[in-house]
Amino acid sequence: VRGRLQYSLIHSAGSESGKKMSNIAVCARFRPLSTKERRDDGDSICIQCLDSDTFTFKDEKEGNSTFTFDRVFYENSEQAQVYDFLALPIVQDAVKYTNGTIITYGQTGAGKTYSMEGPGILESDDQKKGLLPRVVDGIFECIKSSKNANKYSVKLSMVEIYMERVRDLFDLAKDNIQIMENKSQGILLNGITEVSIKDPGEALQSLASGVANRAVGETQMNITSSRSHCVYIFTLQQELKKDNRSRTSKLVLVDLAGSEKVEKSGAEGRVLEEAKSINKSLSALGNVINALTSGSSVKANHIPYRDSKLTRILQDALGGNSRTALLCCCSPCPSNAPESLSTLRFGARASHIKASPRVKCN
Ligand code: ADP
Repeated sequence: VRGRLQYSLIHSAGSESGKKMSNIAVCARFRPLSTKERRDDGDSICIQCLDSDTFTFKDEKEGNSTFTFDRVFYENSEQAQVYDFLALPIVQDAVKYTNGTIITYGQTGAGKTYSMEGPGILESDDQKKGLLPRVVDGIFECIKSSKNANKYSVKLSMVEIYMERVRDLFDLAKDNIQIMENKSQGILLNGITEVSIKDPGEALQSLASGVANRAVGETQMNITSSRSHCVYIFTLQQELKKDNRSRTSKLVLVDLAGSEKVEKSGAEGRVLEEAKSINKSLSALGNVINALTSGSSVKANHIPYRDSKLTRILQDALGGNSRTALLCCCSPCPSNAPESLSTLRFGARASHIKASPRVKCN
């Protein structure tokens, strides 16, 4: 529990009105205005930076709201800063056998995939590399510098959740993976492909092939990646020198489907079904977060993880048996203010999740 407590102190998470202690690190990131936004709306933005963790959000309808998060990354923030603050502590703990989860949330076009992958998984410009390639480097660096293990193995799986079906991105034939729960190992994806990774280069190649498979599957289904959730799972196994026993931890990264509301009037057929499915899973995520932040539900163990595939997969992560970070990605453009405000409120709510007694830290 010591590690978790230190983490809480460093990440004194926030809310819409002020700082609160919490066990999930919540950050907001505003991307630069796009060319289209500049052309249509000029250079005005709806945020006023007050500090590295606090800003005022201006909305025509709702007026001004001040948000405080663990950290706010403004338009000129660098990918390395996001990694160092949000992901590195989680990677370091994953190598010390604590599960970790990093989630990007926001409307389509807000910068989730840019933050997660960078312009591409195989991006050669160091500055532009996203969280995933940095996490890969971080895992191997931390393992090398940790002197505790005789042997270690790193495995990678990638799945996509579309219309409540879990597809294996390393084997598209496995298009309806079942989620199971095991007392000792927690949530498991039955029959999922696990690729053994020996070094960062191999990991990047596998990630790139999973991303390419995602595009193939989506072309076959005629959908875009913003309509599905993408989940990257690193399984770290180490045999410790002190007792020769094996320890396993999971590091899960999730690039969520766009959180925007699809207009009810226009949507029909599959687009409507898609919207309902995304809405259902993101609402389920919100409900799980609400339940986790209301003391009575936690005590009564009434957390509705089973309401969607997404929340079931994230059960261990959100339930506290994990260090979790949420990156709320937003456009700074006033025309996107309602969606950005909804994203920021989601983040503010999530920042109140408390650690469960199941948290394991060395
Ligand atoms: P999402 O995954 O949320 O749908 P993307 O990550 O695809 O959004 O971002 C939309 C566009 O904005 C892309 O062209 C991306 O390159 C650009 N972008 C997003 N975030 C940034 C950033 N921090 N710096 C520069 N460009 C960004």
